[in-house]
Amino acid sequence: LTFLLLLANALTGALTMSDKRSCPSCTRDFISLAALKLDGKLSFSQIADASRDFGNIHHNSPAAVLYPGSVNDIAKVVRCVYASSSNLTIAAKGAGHSIYGQAQARDGIVIEMSTLKGIEVFPGAFGDAPYVDARGGELWIDVVKATMEVGLTPRSFTDYLHLSVGGTLSNAGVSGQAFRYGPQINNVFQLEVVTGKGEIVSCSPIQNADLFFAVLGGLGQFGIITKARIILEPSPQRVRWIRALYSDFSKFTKDQEMLISQPHSRSFDYVEGSVVASTEECPGSWKPKTFPLESDNVTGGSGSPTTDSPVLYCLEVTKNYFEHESSTIEEKISPMLASLGHIPSMVSVQDTPYLSFLERVHESELKLREKGLWSAPHPWLNLFIPKSQIIDFAAWAFEKHLRHGINGPMLIYPLDRMKWDPRMSAITPHEDIFYLVGFLGYASPSVDHSLERLHNKISETLKYCNRNRISYKQYIPNYSSVGEWILHFGEFWPGFVDRKLKYDPKAILSPGQRIFSRFR
Ligand code: FAD
Repeated sequence: LTFLLLLANALTGALTMSDKRSCPSCTRDFISLAALKLDGKLSFSQIADASRDFGNIHHNSPAAVLYPGSVNDIAKVVRCVYASSSNLTIAAKGAGHSIYGQAQARDGIVIEMSTLKGIEVFPGAFGDAPYVDARGGELWIDVVKATMEVGLTPRSFTDYLHLSVGGTLSNAGVSGQAFRYGPQINNVFQLEVVTGKGEIVSCSPIQNADLFFAVLGGLGQFGIITKARIILEPSPQRVRWIRALYSDFSKFTKDQEMLISQPHSRSFDYVEGSVVASTEECPGSWKPKTFPLESDNVTGGSGSPTTDSPVLYCLEVTKNYFEHESSTIEEKISPMLASLGHIPSMVSVQDTPYLSFLERVHESELKLREKGLWSAPHPWLNLFIPKSQIIDFAAWAFEKHLRHGINGPMLIYPLDRMKWDPRMSAITPHEDIFYLVGFLGYASPSVDHSLERLHNKISETLKYCNRNRISYKQYIPNYSSVGEWILHFGEFWPGFVDRKLKYDPKAILSPGQRIFSRFR
């Protein structure tokens, strides 16, 4: 019965919840909340940052922001809200790099996770694997810097490291290492979580396992991650970073798929790729304009390739190494490169410190900030597309619909579903190999790249997929109806609802995902 009630509630109320601004009973709650004895503070005035995100499209003001000084602060606030019968909600905010308001809580409470600090590295001894314990609001860049001090590193990353541990673990966290180690959510030993009832629970694959797997990729729906124990490995010192251009999509994807299937010793450590669109003003010219997040573009070849292809495809791979391997790295890489089918002259090779490679997008961020472009609206779309449909999708999306780009990177690289634990909440297509396709544009005042035009390009892409039965799943999903959420989760929807009832029965947490509405 409760299941049916929750489902009915979701179907009828979820999307109107954020419109209900008036909440007389909330006043009583705020009086109780203000009276809580906290190690940090609850502010009713410092709320501006919590009303924005990187997407800069949705701006929902919370009523209050908790700057926690301890995990107990978080638990106390959640318990207080859980005990009330108003429609107050709570969103944990990590780095606020969501696109569509996912870390916002209109008229509710945002928890600014960054004030809860703590990174502790355990190098491992007597055969135990090394790990790091990091607070949920810590940024990955700070985690990596701390682990590198003792010669260790996490294994799986995102392209950009100024994201919080709790924020990426609530989605998946994918990048070019995920083909080998799985997404970041597959590289966690243990979590500490505050559930929607305000309980502080430690969980792992052997202790409170259902909560552990629920929270990983759980879109913040089941608990607030206050600490994560992340797997480490020895950190390389340098990276050989190679980019190669292709004009033929099937050769490009064939090579990507071959590269991710190689044994560790004979493969690269990072495999990604992107679409290089020609500009509208200058068809056939592959200029950096279409790569604002890339620091240096396609270089090292002998000028522009001659090709009839409307776009080019850029394979990006790296090989990590230790300094003592410098003299042999070339001979390791050469045979791997020799087997690839890229345009022979169009290869760029760079050698860089490991940390500089990991910080590559941050370098671009600094340049974009200088130009005021980092804070532009970002109507992004990330899709997981099954391997069997990627060629059809690319022929339409990259070579026709978006051949002039989307004013930002268009990423495409394969992932291996076997590296995703099916007990986690993250949703992928059913095929063993699927592609991450990311459209990461930013709006500008020009008519060509206005927010409306970019929105249209994105929504036409989704319409194409729906019309042509592409079995895609949105990654970092953004839906505007409960029906779409049900479709997104497919056969996993009842399990998702069940876990919600168990761990956040009043649907207090992460209202910005717009899946459930608050139960009183
Ligand atoms: P927030 O925006 O703060 O929160 C995201 C969601 O998680 C919200 O629903 C929030 O309530 C919830 N949440 C936040 N903290 C917690 C917590 N501690 N416990 C429970 N729930 C929590 N993603 C990739 O996978 N790969 C990439 O390469 C990648 N690159 C990116 C590059 C840029 C420039 C940007 C802006 C984003 C990128 N992302 C990438 C997307 C990113 O992983 C997600 O947007 C992620 O949620 C951002 O983390 P955050 O800390 O900013 O989360």
